[in-house]
Amino acid sequence: MKIGLEIHTQLTTKTKLFCSCSNRMEKNPNSLCCPTCLGMPGSKPVINRSAIDYGIKIALALNCRLPQEAFFSRKAYFYPDMSKNFQITQFEIPLARNGFIKTNNKKVRITRINLEEDPARIVHLGTITEAKYVLVDYNRSGTPLCEIVTEPDIKSPKEARLILQELSTVLQYLDVFDPDIEGSMRVDSNVSIGETRVEIKNISGFKDVERALNYEIIRQKNILRRGGKIIRETRAWDALAGVTRSLRVKEAEEDYGYIFEPDLPRITIDRKKVAGIKKSLPEFASQKVARYKKQFSIPKNLSFPITIDPDIAECFEEVIKNIDPMLAARFFAKELLKTLNYSKVTIKDTSIMPKHLVDLLDLISQKVITERTGEMMLREMIKKEPDEVLRIRGVSRIFDEKVLEPIIKEAMEENPTAIIDYKSGKKEAFHFLVGQVMRKTKGRGDSETIRKLLRKRLSN
Ligand SMILES: [Zn+2]
Repeated sequence: MKIGLEIHTQLTTKTKLFCSCSNRMEKNPNSLCCPTCLGMPGSKPVINRSAIDYGIKIALALNCRLPQEAFFSRKAYFYPDMSKNFQITQFEIPLARNGFIKTNNKKVRITRINLEEDPARIVHLGTITEAKYVLVDYNRSGTPLCEIVTEPDIKSPKEARLILQELSTVLQYLDVFDPDIEGSMRVDSNVSIGETRVEIKNISGFKDVERALNYEIIRQKNILRRGGKIIRETRAWDALAGVTRSLRVKEAEEDYGYIFEPDLPRITIDRKKVAGIKKSLPEFASQKVARYKKQFSIPKNLSFPITIDPDIAECFEEVIKNIDPMLAARFFAKELLKTLNYSKVTIKDTSIMPKHLVDLLDLISQKVITERTGEMMLREMIKKEPDEVLRIRGVSRIFDEKVLEPIIKEAMEENPTAIIDYKSGKKEAFHFLVGQVMRKTKGRGDSETIRKLLRKRLSN
């Protein structure tokens, strides 16, 4: 079995690809457009520089080779969602080629990366077969799309889902893509179990890619079992019905009648600039997984889920400045992710800050509350003000430095070895001392204040 993917991701630049209209989600239809993205005769496109930079970032993160020069072409396109009747895309020389993406131990080759404009959005009132007319919303028209094409290296629908998930994570770390926008990642897939390739168009979401491919493979196997022949065609995925339907017998590339786009200049891909972008690439999820293992001995089954969402990873790294990394990893990978999933929110949607989780984990590690209570409190923290939840739950914090100072002094006098350990560079000794102070305050001391005072004392 051979599966290849063609992934279209919307880039989160401030403005559209060829005009200065705002590139954001807007409910009010046809409110973010101008003559260029409406495709009016005589209007001229101007390239958005940051869209090119975003493309270069993606190309480098996917280990691709960049050409010296890139340019755009026109692709014949006759649908109401592209009123100028051609789409500006890349064909002859793509922005990048010959890269790869890896997940677990699976490597999938990237054939090419193109930049192109997204068409407008077509809206059918009711279902596609019932609607008497279509509505067209040009707000989406001209949104920068990055098209990533893989070689048919994928061997199963599940592998396709894992690769897409990994790609989404990479794009989120690059901060060029927002998975929460509906339709921000749309996938075309080709699949062949014998000689003939069948293309499935327009699948959104990783789970649906897996479903569509599973359906298509069974369909093809059934045809072959009955002695039939699979025809080369393009099929559409109907997510509601859970089936693929024939759309058209496959057209060839020459049918699109590509010509160079005469209204846009050639783009020089400056080597210095590329080197600068390469330097600015973030630490990716897979690199974090390896580092957590090396630095804190956190196993992959805990670190992998924590690093999928960069916001969670960032919060985790803040929390472990104050909390035992292994304790935090277990809590993040299990309770935190489970609770967020259950409430169908991302951490950004909540008011939870790293300091709240530090407080909560302090309470658990000092056995002031059980893990189960911690989980219940976390659920409330998602809905209400986290500070309020910590306070209501009997955690009336001691912030008063005059009260905390003597307790810290006492804890230090009782644990001289911990102080020596700390001064010789053992970070865990600090957590230990914080823990001792916490225990003495029965978990009510404000951890931030305790840490501040303790650090001050230890540096004397
Ligand atoms: Zn515009």
